[in-house]
Amino acid sequence: MAAATMMQGSSRGGGRRGGGPEDDKLVFETTEGVEAITTFDAMGIKDDLLRGIYQYGFEKPSAIQQRAVMPIIKGRDVIAQAQSGTGKTSMIALTVCQMLDTSNREVQALILSPTRELATQTEKVILAIGDFINIQAHACVGGKSVGEDIRKLENGVHVVSGTPGRVCDMIKRRTLRTRAIKMLVLDESDEMLSRGFKDQIYDVYRYLPPDLQVVLISATLPHEILEMTTKFMTDPVKILVKRDELTLEGIKQFFVAVEREEWKFDTLCDLYDTLTITQAVIFCNTKRKVDWLTEKMRGYNFTVSSMHGDMPQKERDAIMAEFRSGTTRVLITTDVWARGLDVQQVSLVINYDLPNNRELYIHRIGRSGRFGRKGVAINFVKSDDIKILRDIEQYYSTQIDEMPMNVADLI
Ligand code: ADP
Ligand code: MG
Repeated sequence: MAAATMMQGSSRGGGRRGGGPEDDKLVFETTEGVEAITTFDAMGIKDDLLRGIYQYGFEKPSAIQQRAVMPIIKGRDVIAQAQSGTGKTSMIALTVCQMLDTSNREVQALILSPTRELATQTEKVILAIGDFINIQAHACVGGKSVGEDIRKLENGVHVVSGTPGRVCDMIKRRTLRTRAIKMLVLDESDEMLSRGFKDQIYDVYRYLPPDLQVVLISATLPHEILEMTTKFMTDPVKILVKRDELTLEGIKQFFVAVEREEWKFDTLCDLYDTLTITQAVIFCNTKRKVDWLTEKMRGYNFTVSSMHGDMPQKERDAIMAEFRSGTTRVLITTDVWARGLDVQQVSLVINYDLPNNRELYIHRIGRSGRFGRKGVAINFVKSDDIKILRDIEQYYSTQIDEMPMNVADLI
């Protein structure tokens, strides 16, 4: 892998390239001959890990797990794409546990995620699944005590699940020693390789040993991201999903035509009883709007919680804990919540604002309908947003109908 050239791929969102003769567009397809192994037993997983997997409640591997676990544990570079909620992040936990030598208390695997909450969630899954193999994992994320990071890392852990900024910081301090790292996993990898994170990822990558195994995971992998992977992956096994297969059957998608911004609020109030049937996540495009909507809902005596990236981490953690436990049912948030977070009781997602790109749409609605559960997504659409919605519909060959009166029955 040539580190120096890793990040020289085409930039994202930088305008589409024309179809001129100099533009030999690479074609990316699922690698031929990838076998589906239909039971965990047949994967050659360590007994004590297998016990952890079953105890955690997994009986049978999902489609992506059936195909990607073997190449990952065999040490291949892997690009694994699958629909949201189908067990990709869980697969990271499982494969990392399998490849670690727990008698060696050095960091052997590094998992990077775009948000602190996701990095922490992944650490928790590793600790749970790896319970019987005595795995030592650490979530190395921003907003937490640096002293605690240092203490944990110096004490020795097998795996770090973190966010790029803090991980890089710990590496530069030589608190996170990279010598024994064999495997780098980028969860939500298209986000990790997009403009906002790319430089930080490269910064970390430079410190990792040369014979590194790289695994990329995401529900969405735009072409320009796949193009970049040729620079830092070696003959990767690719498991990809076609655009028109990316939306889940189980998630029904609707829109409400609100004409004007001012109408959204009343529409949301009318839906409140529906929101609280199980749990719901409401997405706004800015932190300010999250604050505004939260205050306004509370002013009308609706119980809602809210979370965004400007809140102190302690508060974010408390809100996450309440929402995960079901103590709170309605969460108003930004795209900090769009990717990866797994709360099985969420069955309704509202796009109070339509997302700013096509990928985010898939990730947002994928907060519901986890692992085959039912889900409903409702998009609030102003007159001038209709074309954005139609674009999403076309791009994913999916159907977004007008919200029916009986939407509550679908949840
Ligand atoms: P993704 O990363 O693809 O969005 P996750 O790994 O977060 O999916 O998994 C989604 C949900 O499905 C989680 O609640 C997880 O515990 C559950 N899950 C994952 N794999 C299995 C499995 N093989 N059997 C049962 N449940 C699973
Ligand atoms: Mg995930």
